[in-house]
Amino acid sequence: MSAFDVDLFVIGGGSGGVRAARIAATYGARVMIAEEFRYGGTCVIRGCVPKKLMVLAGRFADDFRDAAGYGWSVGETRFDWRALIAAKDREIARLEGVYRGNLERAGVTVRDGRAVIEGPHEVRLLATGERIRAAHILVAVGARPSLEPTIPGGELGITSNEVFDLAEQPRRVLVIGGGYIAVEFAGIFAGLGSETALLHRGDKLLRGFDEELRDKLGAAYARRGVELLLGRTAEAMERTGDGIAVRLSSGETRVFDQVLVATGRRPNTAGLGLETANVALDEGGAIVVDAYSRTLCPSIYAVGDVTNRANLTPVAIREGHAFADTVFGGKPTMVSHEIIPTAVFSTPEIGTVGCSEELARARGGEVAIYKTSFRSMRATLSGRDDPVFMKLVVDKPSDRLLGAHLMGPESGELIQLLGTLVTMGATKADLDRTIAVHPTAAEELVTMRTPVA
Ligand code: FAD
Repeated sequence: MSAFDVDLFVIGGGSGGVRAARIAATYGARVMIAEEFRYGGTCVIRGCVPKKLMVLAGRFADDFRDAAGYGWSVGETRFDWRALIAAKDREIARLEGVYRGNLERAGVTVRDGRAVIEGPHEVRLLATGERIRAAHILVAVGARPSLEPTIPGGELGITSNEVFDLAEQPRRVLVIGGGYIAVEFAGIFAGLGSETALLHRGDKLLRGFDEELRDKLGAAYARRGVELLLGRTAEAMERTGDGIAVRLSSGETRVFDQVLVATGRRPNTAGLGLETANVALDEGGAIVVDAYSRTLCPSIYAVGDVTNRANLTPVAIREGHAFADTVFGGKPTMVSHEIIPTAVFSTPEIGTVGCSEELARARGGEVAIYKTSFRSMRATLSGRDDPVFMKLVVDKPSDRLLGAHLMGPESGELIQLLGTLVTMGATKADLDRTIAVHPTAAEELVTMRTPVA
């Protein structure tokens, strides 16, 4: 008889943990999983999915405006925040059930409640005190929003954990942060009609993205009425009769109904008992792993946001799957984090993959840049401001496509396929010999002929 109760104990029922548990179980492993909040994790419960639903809600305002340009009389429109939140909650509950059901159907033993590590092979469920001996432990506990840097009154702000459940739509909202979550929520609130300001200590949004994309998004947000408070920080917050007064480093004080702090996320490693198994953390509290997601303790692996490699759902899923293949499927699999296509669900939307122009140049290679900007076809009849921008970064000597950076409708959808092209090493000549699909915006991707730099 095995000395272990299970072959695998997974801590955390989010993107990475659920995938790893299911795949390990299909390989015949005895798997138990514990989730302290809700199955589906950040992505399903309070991340990608509810966020995208809210982005879609916000975009109807543009649709109504466009419709008039096409001869439709839309009549009076009104947005009901509570109806959206209730509909979103129903969909999230449905998805949560799907995740749990998939685990159970795969034969995984599902537990609710917090689990902690008590040694290289030991896990304890806090709710019941049950101790489980596991041949392997997978830590997939994700990350949580941080309110840092702490400022006086900072606790008056909310994070992305709370924003999905607000009882009322804020009339005036301040979003603090310059990363994709801050940018997306500023776009959501503006789309839904809140007076929206975005405060960021840097001078541009979306650090790490192609500089031109950053400039164009900032300009588009300003035109859409998002007040950009850049190069500034919040120094203090105070509740007043009129709302939350936020004192800015520029000296002014502004009042809002809600302040959403989206300045960063921290790995969920505190109090997890990792020290009982000598699992090493980096200075930011993330678990240190090798390319197979193995920690310094040979029986313990970690995947997803808790390792702070590339904090995206598909990456956590890929890491979880590769872990199961490696440990239970007899197929050692490393995950490459080199080329990761990704979207920012701002409005206008962004899709990006591979090297930015700046990164390509910094690497010293000879680079050719192709780009175009125009107004989306849909907005031509309505006269709405709906910019499209496309940029391709090509390695001159090899003609290989190094990066693609898009802004405009459906950029998230487009970048999925451009991601395949960059991953497979497609060349500019491959794009050139592709016949265009007309009339689309995407045809520009295969018809740009003259490099601009
Ligand atoms: P999680 O999904 O966070 O799952 C970890 C789970 O572990 C949680 O459910 C938690 O409750 C549980 N847990 C923690 N500690 C314990 C414990 N001790 N015992 C038991 N359970 C525990 N990514 C994208 O790719 N696209 C997007 O559009 C996108 N949008 C996002 C929007 C927002 C607002 C946020 C916050 C994130 C978004 N992300 C997006 C990122 C994505 O959600 C994460 O990268 C992904 O969820 C990471 O998966 P994970 O398995 O590592 O962790």
